Amino acid sequence: MINAHTLSDFRVKHDTALNGLFVQTLGLLSVDGLIPLERVMQDGTKIRAKAAADSFRRQERVEQALKEAQAQVAALQAQSEEEGSRRMAKARQRAARERQERLEQALKEFDQLEKEGKDKEQRRVSTSDPEARVMKQPGGGYAPSYNVQIDTDAKNGVVVAVGVIQAGNDFEQLEPGVDRVQDNLKETPKEVVTDGGYVSKDTIVAMKERAIEYIAPCVDEAGKGQSSYDNRGVSAEYQSSRFIYDAQTNSYLCPQGKILSYEGKEQRHLQLSYRYRAKRSDCEGCPMKSQCCPGNRVTGRSVHRSEELAEVAEFRQKMQSERAREIYKTRAQVAETPNLWIKAKFGLRQFSVRGLVKVGMEALWACLTYNIRVWIRLCWRRAATVVQPA
Ligand code: SF4
Repeated sequence: MINAHTLSDFRVKHDTALNGLFVQTLGLLSVDGLIPLERVMQDGTKIRAKAAADSFRRQERVEQALKEAQAQVAALQAQSEEEGSRRMAKARQRAARERQERLEQALKEFDQLEKEGKDKEQRRVSTSDPEARVMKQPGGGYAPSYNVQIDTDAKNGVVVAVGVIQAGNDFEQLEPGVDRVQDNLKETPKEVVTDGGYVSKDTIVAMKERAIEYIAPCVDEAGKGQSSYDNRGVSAEYQSSRFIYDAQTNSYLCPQGKILSYEGKEQRHLQLSYRYRAKRSDCEGCPMKSQCCPGNRVTGRSVHRSEELAEVAEFRQKMQSERAREIYKTRAQVAETPNLWIKAKFGLRQFSVRGLVKVGMEALWACLTYNIRVWIRLCWRRAATVVQPA
């Protein structure tokens, strides 16, 4: 007999078969010439997890809850042998076992958060869906969610790859997306288009190395070329722009004639940032310290010099071309249509299952359905063209 559990299990138990079906469908569409892979557009959409916002707990609370869940599972196992209907007992056992598994997964997620560099004080994991993450929502506010990455072929709007990630932003998600497209179709897109949230120096370089044309807005960094001091109540005469750079000695001269020596460099988003610092003793005895670096107690004043990387400069220049701008204008319609359909027409605003694998399958079911709908529309269009009288 098919009951709700059978159907639910079927939806999320056969991930290899479902992936195979998705790829086979792409193969048929591709053979039909409907997926040229000339231009692919990637976009991410947040879909709420099956977890309440107040289900996030610290590690100690999860450890305690796991002990209680283990005791409950043991008690239910003993109880079922003695009393109660077998069916009811099995249902209770299943619920308790699933809770125990979720809590075990929750403990593993704390290790994951540590690897991601999350501060110990801020580490919280949901006891309902441990793999969900709190993400900023498009309409405002925060909620436990997953980030669904969708790649769409621009010619006919077919979804060519789907991925579900735990990161709350799209930064550095283009390469994995291109890999998924390649896995599915054994071919690399000639051109990829994203919004500015994907742009990084590494992504620009990676696309160049893979001979893929990359189109995306090259956003200027906020505060480009400025030191963080410039927003901290420093008077106008002591802003970073008032410090003079000497390329020969690779140092700066401050308005009081003191030298700021080169200290180190770091990569900031699309730029290399070089840091220069004055001697602590110079600043301590300086009569203008209160206007220049009032907060510095243990170090001298610093300034930063930013330099754009060659690959980024080339990319920026390309994005100023008319062609690139025209292509980018088409991004929203192509890339966001599947996202909108999945949410608005299929009603997938919140996952009905938990965990990355199952959630990935639910997203894949939606995209497979979407592709079949696109395919039917294309077939109708083709049939209508064929029967047109000459
Ligand atoms: S505080 Fe230091 S860096 Fe600033 S003006 Fe004085 S000596 Fe120069």
